[in-house]
Amino acid sequence: MQRFREMGIQPATRHGQNFLIDLNLQQVIVEAAALTADDVVLEVGTGTGALTALLAQQAAAVVTVEIDGHLFELASELLIDYNNVTMLKQDALKNKNSFHPYVMQTLGERLAEVPGRRLKLVANLPYNIATPVLSNLLSCEHLPHSMVATIQKELGDRIVAQPNSKDYGALSAWIQCQADTEIVRIMPPSVFWPPPKVHSAIVRIVVDPLRRAAIPDLRFFHQFVKTIFIHRRKFLRANIVAALKQHLSKQEVDDILAAMELAPNSRTEQLDVPTLLRLTELVRAHAPDWKL
Ligand code: SAM
Repeated sequence: MQRFREMGIQPATRHGQNFLIDLNLQQVIVEAAALTADDVVLEVGTGTGALTALLAQQAAAVVTVEIDGHLFELASELLIDYNNVTMLKQDALKNKNSFHPYVMQTLGERLAEVPGRRLKLVANLPYNIATPVLSNLLSCEHLPHSMVATIQKELGDRIVAQPNSKDYGALSAWIQCQADTEIVRIMPPSVFWPPPKVHSAIVRIVVDPLRRAAIPDLRFFHQFVKTIFIHRRKFLRANIVAALKQHLSKQEVDDILAAMELAPNSRTEQLDVPTLLRLTELVRAHAPDWKL
């Protein structure tokens, strides 16, 4: 905080600038990531660089991205002696659906330096971009081994949610179809400066490459769940009919539901991930060109 005052830096809410001031919790994040000398870490939001330094002590390389020029300068001072840290001063995202290509290129270079390196996201994420960061990293060219991130508790609840709960939705299905998810710690606002308005959570998401590889068309699955979960409490039949009206007749939808042994009054929020995956395959077989 002292250094902030000296440099005349005011934390900006629009960039989700809430800094983790509890050093024990920084350790919890690092331990949850179980870093090894094979790991390349992506950190979105360098901030002061305090977490970056801890990551650099355990990983092969850290690529850290910061949008705020003042913070970039502040962190550059702290990280000057860490040769394995690459600092990028830019928006980590190109848009809400993709990472900035330069971030991906830099990660690609660090990963390629030594065979067998793995990518891990470890970050105290800016809350306004937490969903696209976690979601997009699962569809980019460098698939992470795992992601450990501080996010809003409400988002953490959605990531680990099970069917028939208020938090279960497209994001739960998209992440759980390819990864194990867990809330490591719930944190009150007081562990940050300035304190955010909501509680936070450290989540761990560990990708299962075999589970992922078993999904024939990930992009189709992602689009399909995003569409049918827009009205997740409605009847599944109505959601599919509305989403695919140019591609599937009502009779075809009824045939698909019958083949799945799903009652006509099933609701989208009741479907677990294996059922969603089987349903997607039947829909894809009837409407392969939908949304592609
Ligand atoms: N890592 C620090 C810590 O643990 O305290 C800072 C975390 S703070 C919650 C989030 C940081 O992300 C801020 O420094 C903010 O300026 C930065 N940030 C916000 N939006 C960003 C974006 N689109 N790309 C890169 N950095 C961003």
